[in-house]
Amino acid sequence: MTAIHYRAGRIFTAGEPAWAESMVVRGETIEYVGSTAGADRIDAEVVDLGGAFVLPGFVDAHTHLVSMGEALGQVDLFPATSPEDLQRRLARAAAADPDAPRILGRSWLFDALGGRAPDRQLIDAVVPDRPVYLSANDVHSAWVNTAALRELGIDRDTPDPLDGRIGRDESGEPDGMLYESAALQMMRHYLDTQTSDTDRDRALQAAFAQYRADGVTAAVDMALGEVDLAALERALEGGRLPVRVAAHWLIERTGNTRDDLRQVERAAELSARLTGPWLRVTGIKLMVDGVIDTCTAAMKKPFADGSHPGPLWPPEALAPVVAAADAAGLQVAMHAIGDEASDIALSALEHAIEANGPRDRRHRLEHLETVTEENVRRLARLGAVASMQPVHADPAIQENWRAMLGDDRVQRGFPWPEFTAAGAVLAFGSDAPTAPHPPLPNMYIATTRRSALDASLEPNLPEFALPLAEALAHGTRDAAYACRWDGLTGRLAPGLAADFAVLDSDPFEGPDDVLLRARVQRTYVGGEPYPD
Ligand SMILES: [Zn+2]
Repeated sequence: MTAIHYRAGRIFTAGEPAWAESMVVRGETIEYVGSTAGADRIDAEVVDLGGAFVLPGFVDAHTHLVSMGEALGQVDLFPATSPEDLQRRLARAAAADPDAPRILGRSWLFDALGGRAPDRQLIDAVVPDRPVYLSANDVHSAWVNTAALRELGIDRDTPDPLDGRIGRDESGEPDGMLYESAALQMMRHYLDTQTSDTDRDRALQAAFAQYRADGVTAAVDMALGEVDLAALERALEGGRLPVRVAAHWLIERTGNTRDDLRQVERAAELSARLTGPWLRVTGIKLMVDGVIDTCTAAMKKPFADGSHPGPLWPPEALAPVVAAADAAGLQVAMHAIGDEASDIALSALEHAIEANGPRDRRHRLEHLETVTEENVRRLARLGAVASMQPVHADPAIQENWRAMLGDDRVQRGFPWPEFTAAGAVLAFGSDAPTAPHPPLPNMYIATTRRSALDASLEPNLPEFALPLAEALAHGTRDAAYACRWDGLTGRLAPGLAADFAVLDSDPFEGPDDVLLRARVQRTYVGGEPYPD
């Protein structure tokens, strides 16, 4: 098999040493990384990189592939700046697709409503005849119209689901808002029944294509369920995927520990069956709390409006599930945004470690948007991974987030460097589709705490910005560690897979915003280029 010698570029390895002049790839694997003189001794075809910048392919440590692909086909409401603007965008989308049985939209911001509460009438006014489903930017709530409530069979007599809430007006009628499991389960499960396998396959391929175009070579699907798994397995026919996928199986709380544990058994089964370098089930996912924007996160002290919800998983329901997954060798990833949620999650990990004895676990806490200094140290002591998304700290989406907390807690938002200072591994991802998936703008926010969307905004707590080499390593090497793929990908080193990206400019040279302007020329996964 002919080797290929990539030379005359600047190569950042995310390993030791951090820089190289040349890299030799044979088949799917990196054979050599180092000086050009050393590479010249290997019989290989030479590819001149023409001064381009090479780095390991990004590993998105937290994403939702099928949802990301589906979101690409939905009405994007992120740019909407007022209720009227949002209505205009919906009306235009409805008019453009008169035969669509329903209208799906995404990424609207509470900030865009100017203090007005979202209600079904606001949507009814522009789309009265067809169901409209609008996922909030964080996906933890949805805003729907009257026709959608009817389609879902939700009326004033429908009880709130476990761990969720149906918004209601003063007279007790559903007002069009669905919170937490009302959106994530009731609505999502219904819409899943209206989506064909062909639609899902198309969505998955669209997500893969976006990732390949943007330099991502592996992704951790952070809430896999049966229908999305089936789509991944169909895509795997032929043995490869365009992007490597490690997955965490979503455990939906049933209120009954035996049924919760049955889902852990399913995850263990899948993890034993899917073990390859293209598709693996590596663990489970648990939603310990909600989000700051809708005041559903579990906080130690109430939100500014006085609300103070508990966790979605009470500690006594969580502990046996975490312990069982840990005993089965699964990684446990817990969504923990509020400072109380990380407390609950870490206690469950401590309990499992005590019960099952020491070993390499790599359990993870997801998001950690607000966290106490004590819990940062505790997480590091337990060997857990901090999985965070710089793009969630974009100043453009902070206004409502800050207002909901309303006090000095906002000074501790997204404190990335505290985790590494405490000795924890920090893995970066995007949580697409709750935020844009491209890794370079994500790295821009990581290194500047500035907005990738609006250059005029002040940086968000700039003392938490990271040096570029560290940020890149969190998005490559550490994200691979976080899904137990550090022996396969995430660095450029002999023996690892030839997963790398080639950029037209070197972000280490010149101003920070090179990260916003740099273009990905090619992405290689297992030695194969895209575009080819
Ligand atoms: Zn997520």
